[in-house]
Amino acid sequence: MARCQKLASFSEDAGGTRRTFLSAPMRDCHREVSSWMKSLGMTVSVDAVGNLRGFYPGASPGAPRILMGSHLDTVPNAGAYDGILGVVLAAGLVESLEERKLPFGIEVIGFSEEEGVRFGVPFIGSRALVGRVDEELLGRKDEHGVSVRKSIQDFGLNANEIFKAALRDDVLGYIEFHIEQGPALEDLGRPLGAVEAIVGQNRLEFTFSGQANHAGTTPMNLRHDALAAAAEWIVAVEKLAQGSPGIVATVGFVEVKPGAANVIAGQARATLDIRDASDRVRTEALDELIRQAESIGTRRGVTVKWRTLLAQNAVAMDPFLVQQIEHAIQKAGCEPHRLASGAGHDAMILAEKVPAAMIFLRSPGGISHDPAESVHLDDVAKALECGLHLLTQLAASQEFLGRTCRA
Ligand SMILES: [Zn+2]
Repeated sequence: MARCQKLASFSEDAGGTRRTFLSAPMRDCHREVSSWMKSLGMTVSVDAVGNLRGFYPGASPGAPRILMGSHLDTVPNAGAYDGILGVVLAAGLVESLEERKLPFGIEVIGFSEEEGVRFGVPFIGSRALVGRVDEELLGRKDEHGVSVRKSIQDFGLNANEIFKAALRDDVLGYIEFHIEQGPALEDLGRPLGAVEAIVGQNRLEFTFSGQANHAGTTPMNLRHDALAAAAEWIVAVEKLAQGSPGIVATVGFVEVKPGAANVIAGQARATLDIRDASDRVRTEALDELIRQAESIGTRRGVTVKWRTLLAQNAVAMDPFLVQQIEHAIQKAGCEPHRLASGAGHDAMILAEKVPAAMIFLRSPGGISHDPAESVHLDDVAKALECGLHLLTQLAASQEFLGRTCRA
């Protein structure tokens, strides 16, 4: 936990934690985590999208490997544990092995980008491992007009070498520890949970275009107010999600142009984030919200355009690993609990190519993405204990060691 707090001090903002993709403080973060990993006899490198990768070898030279880790980037005004704890815990597990070698090596990965803050697209780090960083993504620009490709170059890396970051065929699986970021485990009084699925999500950007005009001279019945149209739709989004048990839908960003007190809004740009464990339910709800945006626009003489920023189906975690995690949680003296993750994680990207699973740690107050985000010291100890049992179980499992990778 002290290590997580230390990493939280590497920030783009004074007085708060914000560490986005390949920002200057990410370099300090790499230096710090590298020094811990090197002291454990790990070989450390940074791949071409800025993922920090430390390798702890297996018992024999040709041994396969498992991947463990999470992300090192943060949202603005972040807490100290989201993502970071998963990387620190993985390194802590290697430390707990006390130089014991397993039939597989352990590669600890600190992903460079998971939150999607800088470029509006999440998972740049893990996408590189499954070969999904394409030209479109490399061309995306941040708010200062700097492209992903340029940011990679500015960090001293070579975007032409991203293909080298891809998984090889020696990977047996990926395991990620992460804070729950919700209230379920706390409600049940359980420190650890086994994630069985990650809900699907869509992220879209809607642009409502009306007519900017004088706030004093334009009668109410002759207006095409883009913001009023967006506002009506935002309430419709909330209403739809409230009416269906599993769905969560959020408009978390609105930008209005020209943005003056005495000018009717000519344009309003709003994001939509919608999630559900059922792909069918989510897709139907999304279609309905698009239909509602269009009908609100038509009625108000406002045109509505939308584009997809992210479309991610629900992802099941590997059943064998989930079961092994439940055993390990039990061996650590805790009652296991299976749950779905409402947040997206690197594990769902890696699950495209390798068996992946996650272990959640209880989030006090269910709080995350805020400086008040925390974990209980005892829960972290239980997580380490669970992790060690898990590694021991997997090391003894012929079923696991006999697996071949789809990468
Ligand atoms: Zn996270």
